[in-house]
Amino acid sequence: MSVLSLRVVWVQGRLPLLAESLEDSVLHDFMIIYWFKNDLRLADNTALHVAVADCDTVLPVYVIDKELLRSPHTGAAQTAFRLQSLEALRQNIEAAGGRLIVRTGELWEELRKLAQESGAKAIYWNREYDPASREREARIEKEARALGLETKSFKDDVIHEAGEVLKNDGTPYVVFTPYSKAWKLLPVDAALPVTKFKSPVPASIRSESIPTLAGLGFTLEAKIPEGGEKAGRDVLKKFTAVALLDYRRQRDFPALEGTSRLSPHLRLGTVSIRTVFAGVEKARQAHPKAGGIETFINELIWREFYRHVLSHFPHAINGSFRREYDALKWENNEKLFKAWCEGRTGFPIVDAAMRQLNTTGWMHNRLRMIVAMFLTKDLLVSWQWGERYFMEKLVDADPASNNGGWQWSASTGTDAAPYFRIFNPNSQAAKFDPEGDFIKRFVPEADTPSYPPPIVNHADQRIKTLALYGTLKSS
Ligand SMILES: Cc1cc2nc3c(=O)[nH]c(=O)nc-3n(C[C@H](O)[C@H](O)[C@H](O)COP(=O)(O)OP(=O)(O)OC[C@H]3O[C@@H](n4cnc5c(N)ncnc54)[C@H](O)[C@@H]3O)c2cc1C
Repeated sequence: MSVLSLRVVWVQGRLPLLAESLEDSVLHDFMIIYWFKNDLRLADNTALHVAVADCDTVLPVYVIDKELLRSPHTGAAQTAFRLQSLEALRQNIEAAGGRLIVRTGELWEELRKLAQESGAKAIYWNREYDPASREREARIEKEARALGLETKSFKDDVIHEAGEVLKNDGTPYVVFTPYSKAWKLLPVDAALPVTKFKSPVPASIRSESIPTLAGLGFTLEAKIPEGGEKAGRDVLKKFTAVALLDYRRQRDFPALEGTSRLSPHLRLGTVSIRTVFAGVEKARQAHPKAGGIETFINELIWREFYRHVLSHFPHAINGSFRREYDALKWENNEKLFKAWCEGRTGFPIVDAAMRQLNTTGWMHNRLRMIVAMFLTKDLLVSWQWGERYFMEKLVDADPASNNGGWQWSASTGTDAAPYFRIFNPNSQAAKFDPEGDFIKRFVPEADTPSYPPPIVNHADQRIKTLALYGTLKSS
């Protein structure tokens, strides 16, 4: 190991994390392309940090990937949040002595052209874990190496990635509680400092301007939260100062500001998972007895659990984790599905939740569970229809957490609710929105004659659902 490579270790004190890049980590006199994806920040950005340590000139690039734009999973709300976050990133990079290069096109083609124009010899990025992202990364790696470019990828999006949290016999956990216990035995890395660029990007390398949402062909009706690194930091600060302390008691009540609202920031990486942990730790030191902290950490571990599941069991992205459930005969009634999407089911809590999604791009976790169970077990519509609608509408749309949440609700997943556990939407409303405050906010007409009657009878549908799943169990 060279003296220069030790520089990276001792500055950051993150031996295990950076070890993968150390053996050949030397200060290069060529340029490195830094490929931004869902890590739109300068603070605690692992691969960017190493890229800047490894060479004098880093070319930070964001490719508006035409293939991703065409995907039905790319929705207006998340794209709007992404564009805002990109603009903030562009400004932050400039203030830090660099320049963001934006290109639109086919991903590899754009990276290839940039390498050719600049003479860059390497591409660095942070790893992602859903099958589509892994395929994309594998393709870039293959193409780049074929051209003689070096590639390096890093763990950054999670505290512990798949392969690090395993059972004693080396196999992956499929149940959350033992996974989380093993997860908690491993150390949590500290956050890295904000990246500063050592030398500017040569003026000859052109960048497009960041496109507008309309320019990308999207229209957005929802009023979404503010993107960008500063907004992410502010959300974290506000949450750890107040709501975190009472998170355990308040997080299930959608009328309250009881949860962090960090999900879009964690999804697009405008705040890092290690920075969130550092914020939580600081709050713990100030309020050692606060009951909400362990509960909140468990939610962050759910996020990693679902990444772990997709890493080890990629088939779950296209079908049931428990393959036998692929044989379920959903009714898939399009009229009922449309009423669900539009918040016109005649069940006030379901309608309020769907309208929250449609008008804000976000939905409270308790409500996500209620509407997902309602779609699958009251309307007998496939969880995959709901999964797709959420991907299209959510500002925090995340392949792993969304797939995990839907398969949990439909009882087809790893650690899912048993199939006979069926929420009654009205009892859920009575328990978690007792005064109807949340419902009134989104369905003001709920108590008036203009509000439609329920589109199904919950008791009848429950019997049907039990029969549907039951047949499968006994077959
Ligand atoms: C059907 C369904 C679909 C979902 N789809 C998504 C999705 O596309 N994107 C997404 O980020 N979350 C999804 N979730 C998980 C959860 O509902 C959201 O993460 C949470 O509501 C976001 O709000 P918050 O940031 O205020 O959460 P908080 O309660 O403050 O939690 C903090 C963070 O922990 C993580 N988290 C919390 N709960 C979960 C969970 N159950 N599973 C995985 N991670 C969790 C999120 O990153 C969240 O930001 C889904 C849940 C269900 C039941």
